[in-house]
Amino acid sequence: LNRRLAEFGTTIFAEMSALAVRTGAINLGQGFPDTDGPETVSEAAVRAIRDGRGNQYPPGPGIPELREAVSSHQRRFYGLAFDPDTEVLVTAGATEALAATLLALVEPGDEVIALEPYYDSYAAGIALAGGVRVPVTLRPRDGVFRLDLDELRDAVTPRTRLLLLNSPHNPTGMVLSPDELTAIAELAVERDLIVVTDEVYEHLVFDGAHLPLISLPGMRDRTVSISSAGKSFSFTGWKVGWVTASAPLVSAVRSAKQFLTYVSAGPFQYAVAEALHLPDSYFAAFREDLRAKRDLLSAGLTEAGFEVFTPQGTYFITTDITALGERDGVAFCRALPERCGVVAVPNSVFYDDRDAGRSHVRFAFCKRAETLNDAVTRLKRVE
Ligand code: PMP
Ligand code: GLN
Repeated sequence: LNRRLAEFGTTIFAEMSALAVRTGAINLGQGFPDTDGPETVSEAAVRAIRDGRGNQYPPGPGIPELREAVSSHQRRFYGLAFDPDTEVLVTAGATEALAATLLALVEPGDEVIALEPYYDSYAAGIALAGGVRVPVTLRPRDGVFRLDLDELRDAVTPRTRLLLLNSPHNPTGMVLSPDELTAIAELAVERDLIVVTDEVYEHLVFDGAHLPLISLPGMRDRTVSISSAGKSFSFTGWKVGWVTASAPLVSAVRSAKQFLTYVSAGPFQYAVAEALHLPDSYFAAFREDLRAKRDLLSAGLTEAGFEVFTPQGTYFITTDITALGERDGVAFCRALPERCGVVAVPNSVFYDDRDAGRSHVRFAFCKRAETLNDAVTRLKRVE
């Protein structure tokens, strides 16, 4: 294994899901729903396979139907216009979009600023591209995680190439406010930065609506916006994602993407194209379902003695275990299946400074209500 990858080991999600399978524990670790997305959408994938659509290599940038559907989704929800032929790129999940973007835009030695704790593929993606990771740490304030804009400004140097943002934010559930996004846009313009926005939880904002950074003044040509069908339609196994950006940026990302996977699975692209045209009521019901589950798990974790940082978005809750008399999230998560039959993820693996999130543990609530109730009952018994 080369030096770029040696520090990363096995992802926490694989480790914790394997632990859940081995112990039969309830898996609130890896973020995947325990109920599949709409049947009409899975039927569309089956139909595509049967009808022989997408069974052979689809076009490199993605099938036209899906690029058009992405474009029309961006118009419907955000009033943004993207040319489906030049400004939309279909990828193998948001993960490939992130990797291809970093590989396409980062020169060895360039600095990439990322909000910490960060989704684990960011660090590895930056490393594969030869970039230097510069974390800006989110900290709890009044029960929620927040970004310190001064810290962000101070992190920018002449070597900064990219700013990698994620809002709604995994694992903290933080959602950047319109004022914060405006300040970030001003900074990006002033310092001539490209901003990569990971918006996979765009439909899971519990108060107000998601605001894409690319819609703000000066950002249209310097933002690479990334999203995924896995999260919005509960088909994480399909691995269909996309990039929307200006034509030169999409073209750059495509240059890298074509040598990573070339293309992603054809029939799923037809199905996701249909999913993106689902009525507004689908997206509202999806959000309300998860809001109720957030409230259920937040209340249960609080009763069980965890300090809960209530998420404003995503399907994750970050907690602090100090009040339970625990200090180390990694040890706690490794022992939790034995102690009470639940799997969670230690946030410290999402930090450069492993001490920073040491007592923080993440729980996913994209699960059936009875599963969440069962998990809470077990967590109250944790010895
Ligand atoms: N970004 C974030 C913040 C995530 O939580 C995830 C996990 N779904 C991804 C990217 C990767 O998405 P995908 O499964 O579409 O590759
Ligand atoms: N995004 C999911 C999470 O944060 C997991 C994705 C993965 O397993 N790579 O839990």
